[in-house]
Amino acid sequence: YIVCERVTKSFGAHQVLKGVSTQFCQGEVTVIIGASGSGKSTLLRALNRLEPHDGGRITIAGVEVTDHEATLQQQRCEVGMVFQQFNLFGHMTVLDNVTLAPRRIRKTPRATANAQALQLLERVGMAAHAHKYPWQLSGGQQQRVAIARALAMQPQVMLFDEPTSALDPEMVQEVLEVMRGLAREGMTMIVVTHEMGFAREVADRVMFFDQGQIAHEAPPAEFFARPGNERIAAFIGRMA
Ligand code: ATP
Ligand code: MG
Repeated sequence: YIVCERVTKSFGAHQVLKGVSTQFCQGEVTVIIGASGSGKSTLLRALNRLEPHDGGRITIAGVEVTDHEATLQQQRCEVGMVFQQFNLFGHMTVLDNVTLAPRRIRKTPRATANAQALQLLERVGMAAHAHKYPWQLSGGQQQRVAIARALAMQPQVMLFDEPTSALDPEMVQEVLEVMRGLAREGMTMIVVTHEMGFAREVADRVMFFDQGQIAHEAPPAEFFARPGNERIAAFIGRMA
């Protein structure tokens, strides 16, 4: 569904992505792990057009990701993203956070948008909090709202960049549970996380990023049994 061919990205003299080639297939859950600074977030941001890549090719559903305005809206709708810091709009209720993009971008009438939002909030266990503001919610609750907000645009792919890293430990599972549900429903997901349990249980494929390249990728059973090299084994050891 998403194809990356020799994707590169530099910040000044620092090449952060050094030729990333891979495919993310429909319905597949990919977990990306790797050291800090290895380029995981930069890859996700390139897929979501938050940060343009400078070499190689990315295509989403056959359409090349470029800086052309013509395809921007379409691709932003197809690819949902959830960040470590939930980034909810603080001055808006939960319901308005979820309905904002459908109303503004899809021109969905408010009543329809509200009904759809409530269904999504139900799905992430947050319907009872629809009229609260973000500051009235725990981190785990805010992140579940952020997931509902991303889903409101009916994306084909969901990107998650360390969605549980900013959460207190007791809230990690409630967010992972929502993500497990999405995976079961067949959502195409690319997840950067340190949650090795999630990778083992949910991923179809685990990818290890090292210095701007995919150093190793394999289905989780194989990945964890034979990590590929010493560096990867050591990394997994630290995470477990
Ligand atoms: P982490 O696990 O810490 O989130 P990461 O694998 O997500 O790391 P990236 O955020 O992709 O790593 O960053 C890769 C490298 O690119 C880092 O050295 C970072 O300092 C650099 N970098 C990222 N964004 C920018 C930017 N906007 N301007 C300059 N350098 C950047
Ligand atoms: Mg990152």
